[in-house]
Amino acid sequence: MSKHYRIPCLVDHQLVDATTSLTLAELDPQIQATILADYPQATGQDFICNEHLIHYRLAKLDDLMAKDQQANRKLSHRLTQVFKQDDYQVIDVNQQLEQSLTFGQRIADAVARFGGSWPFIILFVTIMLAWMIINVIPIFSHHFDPYPFILLNLFLSMVAAIQAPLIMMSQKRRPITTAYKLKMIFG
Ligand SMILES: [Zn+2]
Repeated sequence: MSKHYRIPCLVDHQLVDATTSLTLAELDPQIQATILADYPQATGQDFICNEHLIHYRLAKLDDLMAKDQQANRKLSHRLTQVFKQDDYQVIDVNQQLEQSLTFGQRIADAVARFGGSWPFIILFVTIMLAWMIINVIPIFSHHFDPYPFILLNLFLSMVAAIQAPLIMMSQKRRPITTAYKLKMIFG
């Protein structure tokens, strides 16, 4: 028996090497269908030579690209129509999120935003210094919180105690905000 088992190609009946060629049944269904449309008498056991197979594979690729282009054209046409009609809706994600916030969440955000800013630090240091100066310098007759400023200490503790949970509330919502924005952008 010969090492090269030769069989005819289903397209032109030229003898080809069976070990390097495929049968119709081994091809993907779409290519099978195209070949069968051209050669209705072919069966699944028939071989096709590599040259003819490449021809069909390129044809399939062309077909795919044409379909893709068509889809793109349709989409851009639809977009053009929509923009022409001017009835599309631009959704402001930030505004929508803003509207969905509760009063408490808004306060928490405002506190977190202001508490993490330079104006806040400058204002805070100024108030503390003024407090200490008023209570230390003799020209101010009434020292309502003399050294070591126990009342100031109490106020500072209260501000910190309130600020910490407010900032945490604001930060806890950030992943939700991010997820919502991603959803709006990518659908
Ligand atoms: Zn062939």
